[in-house]
Formats: sequence, C-alpha cells, structure tokens
Amino acid sequence: MARNILVVAEVRNGAIRPVSFECIAAGREIAEGGAITAVLLGQQGVDASELIRRGADRVVVVKGDHLANYTPDGWLSALQQVYLQEKPDVVLMGHTGIGRDLLPRFAMRNAAGMISDAIAVKVEGGQVVFTRPIYAGKAYATQVVKDGLIVATIRPNNVAALEADPGRTGDVSEAEAASVHLRTVVKEVVRKATTGVDLTAAKVVVAGGRGVRSAEGFKPLYELAEVLGGAVGASRAAADAGYCDYALQIGQTGKTVTPDLYIACGISGAIQHLAGMSASKVIVAINKDPDAPIFKVADYGIVGDLFEVVPLLTREFKAL
Ligand code: FAD
Repeated sequence: MARNILVVAEVRNGAIRPVSFECIAAGREIAEGGAITAVLLGQQGVDASELIRRGADRVVVVKGDHLANYTPDGWLSALQQVYLQEKPDVVLMGHTGIGRDLLPRFAMRNAAGMISDAIAVKVEGGQVVFTRPIYAGKAYATQVVKDGLIVATIRPNNVAALEADPGRTGDVSEAEAASVHLRTVVKEVVRKATTGVDLTAAKVVVAGGRGVRSAEGFKPLYELAEVLGGAVGASRAAADAGYCDYALQIGQTGKTVTPDLYIACGISGAIQHLAGMSASKVIVAINKDPDAPIFKVADYGIVGDLFEVVPLLTREFKAL
C-alpha cells in the first residue's frame, strides 16, 4: 500500500538539520511507492533542493514573517495548512526540541495516533511498525498506529540518511502562510555562543562527570573532543556542580545522543545517564573504580585516572 509521507524539516544555524534527512530516509522505508514531501516552515535562505537530493520528491517552503522563529501556534497553523493541502498518510519530524513540541499538538488537532522518539521504522504485515526505547532505554517497544493518520518523531542519529544524489530533481514550491492570531510572539532570540560541533548531531562525544572535579578539569576533554572532531557532553552531577553548562547534560532529563563513539570520563553510569547515551555505537569508559556500573555498558573500559588517560589519548590521536 503506497503511503504519502510529509517530513517537517528543520534548519539550525543556516543549515538543514541532519535529522530531517534521516526522517526522509525513514519515510522511504515505509512509503512503498508513495511520495515524500518535505516542508520548510518559514525557513528560507537555505537550499531547499538539498532535501530533494537527500530523497524527497517535492519540497514546500511556507513563507511568513511570523514563522521565522518557532512558535507553537504559528507553526501549527502553517503545518495544518500544508497537511490539508497534501493529505499525507504519515507525518514525520525529528525528535528535537521543536519536534517534541509541535507534533503532539498537530496529532491532537487531527485526532491522530502519535509515536514519539522512534529509533526505527519498517513495514510489517502491511502495518507501519515503529521501535522506541522505553523505561529510560532499558527495553524497546514496537508500536503501531492502528488506523488513520500516523504522526511520529524520529530520534536523531538512528536512521541512516540517504547519500546526497546530485542528479536528483524534484519540485520546490512556495506557499504563503495564512495569517494567524499569535498568542505567543518571539520578541528576541538570544543565542548562546557555542563552539564547535552540535552535541546531539556529533559523531564523537567526550563526556565528563563528577570525576572531572571542576570547570578547569573539562579542559583536557575539550582538547580530546577537538582532536576527534567531536563535542563535549556531561553528566547531570557535573552540570549540577557548576563544572559546565546544563546545555551539555546528557541523560533522562538532558539530551539524548547516539554518536559513533562515546567516551565517558569520570562518569559512574547511573541509569538516568545511560538513558541518554546507551544507544551510542561504541562506548569507551574511563573510570578509576573498576566496579563502576558504566563498565557494564562499555565496549572498551580503561581503569585509570582520567587526568592521565585523556591527555594520553589526545596525544596518540594527534599523532595519527
Ligand atoms: P558520580 O556518580 O559521582 O560518579 C563519578 C565517577 O567518577 C565515579 O564512578 C568515580 O569512580 C569516577 N572518578 C572520580 N575521579 C576520577 C578520576 N580522576 N578518573 C577517573 N574516574 C574518576 N544524571 C545524568 O547524568 N543525566 C540525567 O539526565 C539525569 N537525570 C536524572 C533525573 C532524575 C529524576 C534523577 C533522580 C537523577 C538524574 N540524574 C541524571 C542523576 C544520576 O542519578 C546520577 O546522580 C548522575 O548521573 C551521576 O553523575 P556522575 O556519574 O558524573 O557522578
């Protein structure tokens, strides 16, 4: 059964977020000959045809000054407009801050079934089956929406995006957003100066815990992350202690990361931390306590003092 898919694409720092390409790939898994339409809400200034090269058949760019910054009512109204025009069978978006906020509202508006934070999707027995972690990543549930419109968010870094095909063509059209009475108005956006790689999209994450002992103690972790082209993350204990910003917190109440390589430095491996990183492809743990629970989930364990081991790793990787 062919399914038409609508992917709500997102832009950050002037570029389409990788999870949007991953949603297109997820859409391809289940479209069974249906079309994939990507929608950009108020985010002109990016090359929308990149979405075509990554597997979408069409792109709709919805224009409107009120869409420049995310507001739940502004974006919901614009998405609803596109939905009524396109009437897709499935709506997908990244499980990002905006995706978590927007899609449940959209599902509610349309009385649709919603699957949140899926890490895989396939067609089985004629149904679209999603896999999602439950109990803070301790188990996986497979879920279906029994009938009607399917709405789902896809966790970043779990579905492989399609390679860009420079020869792929498709229609990119523009639509004007209908005017809407906004109850929320963004007056100013204050962006935190961020250095380097986006934590949730990073292929390598070097994370520090209470064992790092101070803000100064994070320096060697930044050096290692830089050599590996990765980002720095942290446990909640490290953020609570003021060693780093809460924006770096990984775990149940922080960010979820699924890099190719996760290096945990001075992190014990509490279940709440594992909830945000245990799906990483390769986990390396550096801890001076051989009984630390993090070693149970680690692929490689180094029992030692992080202040000796981390600079050694940096030196060795630099020399490669
Ligand atoms: P600790 O558990 O204190 O571990 C420090 C580790 O460093 C120890 O294993 C020690 O052996 C090692 N160490 C010390 N010095 C060195 C050294 N020089 N070299 C090498 N190793 C060293 N936590 C999160 O991380 N993310 C969350 O999102 C989160 N959400 C939570 C939500 C709730 C509702 C609750 C109740 C808790 C949550 N927590 C979360 C907290 C979590 O339970 C743990 O307290 C926290 O993860 C511990 O952080 P840690 O591993 O850095 O610290």
